[in-house]
Amino acid sequence: MNIAMNERMMTGALTFEKIKYLLLLDDKADIAKLIEKARQKRDTTIGNKVYLRGLIEFSNRCAKNCLYCGIRASNSNVERYTVSDDDVIEAAMFALKNKYGSIVLQSGERSDREFTSHISSLLQKIHEATGHNLRITLSCGEQSEEVYREWFRLGAQRYLLRIEASNPELYKKIHPDNENHSYNRRLRSLKTLIDSGFQTGTGVMIGLPFQTIDDLINDLIFIRDSGVVMVGMGPYVEHAETPLYEHRGKLLPAEKRVELTLKMIAILRLMRPTINIASTTALQTLDENGRELGLRAGANVIMPNITPVLYKKEYDLYEGKPALHDEPDEVGEAIEKLITNVGCQVGWSEWGDSKFYSN
Ligand code: SAH
Ligand code: SF4
Repeated sequence: MNIAMNERMMTGALTFEKIKYLLLLDDKADIAKLIEKARQKRDTTIGNKVYLRGLIEFSNRCAKNCLYCGIRASNSNVERYTVSDDDVIEAAMFALKNKYGSIVLQSGERSDREFTSHISSLLQKIHEATGHNLRITLSCGEQSEEVYREWFRLGAQRYLLRIEASNPELYKKIHPDNENHSYNRRLRSLKTLIDSGFQTGTGVMIGLPFQTIDDLINDLIFIRDSGVVMVGMGPYVEHAETPLYEHRGKLLPAEKRVELTLKMIAILRLMRPTINIASTTALQTLDENGRELGLRAGANVIMPNITPVLYKKEYDLYEGKPALHDEPDEVGEAIEKLITNVGCQVGWSEWGDSKFYSN
């Protein structure tokens, strides 16, 4: 591989062709160079601080049936739960005490009033208990504009809604064919979130059956142009109790899905140097050092799971999700070590708003 050529492909505006070249890199030394370039880009633009988001998976009740997801409504093997308000508040206090600057409340998608008002009341209770010292991110799927605006007004500053696959044709293949799973509605929801003032995040799954390299290139271009300030992308991980499982024979091996995810993170960092990029749990699922590798490739956020242990194992999105039975122990020195080992610093007690948003 010609070194000069490689450098040129990583600089200047990243066109479709350049992205393709980078995504298809196969030589380990070339991939290492891309990853190093992305890490440098992060360090010289937003710095090497990694922000912590305590992830609380507060309910696995879901009205939808995404074909890839273990907690889809039709999976009757899942024991459904909603974490009690007291336990959610305890988890939020845990985050505050352990100097995480923010939490993420994630759940299945429901749009009934009981659910949406419950979130509203939780937002108020958490802010009250933590003295408004935590940023709160919601990840509760598609909702009406009215609901999004109410949650924003009650102090949810951020929202994560992955587009999952930016190609409508691919989207159709991984979702049931009905109004409840419409690509256009998801896209509109993303736009509504941005217009409502949220620091909005999106993302895709990488290594899905039927997904092509061109799809992934277009995913990166979609993310770049969508106006989001945060991104969470992770490898697709199969789950035996889902319809998509029958296509597992089409998947790349796990280590290739990890490699592809790391390339996606690195290229996105070069395209959008100041956005927040999470190193995801799914990455850690396919490689025990996955999150560290993500940070080395330019990510700057990790989301330790602080769901109360009683419920954790039922939030089973995909196979092999780590630490399902452990108490949260990703605090203090343990987390400091994870982060400093990859040459980063911990943003203790910092909100870590995206610099792209502040700008
Ligand atoms: N219900 C909400 C949030 C919870 S699901 C929503 O769907 O937006 C959170 C994320 O988990 C989804 O956005 C999806 O990208 C991811 N996910 C679900 N099943 C997965 C799988 N099998 N492999 C990898 N990621 C998966
Ligand atoms: Fe429900 Fe989200 Fe899973 Fe889809 S991905 S089935 S909306 S929890």
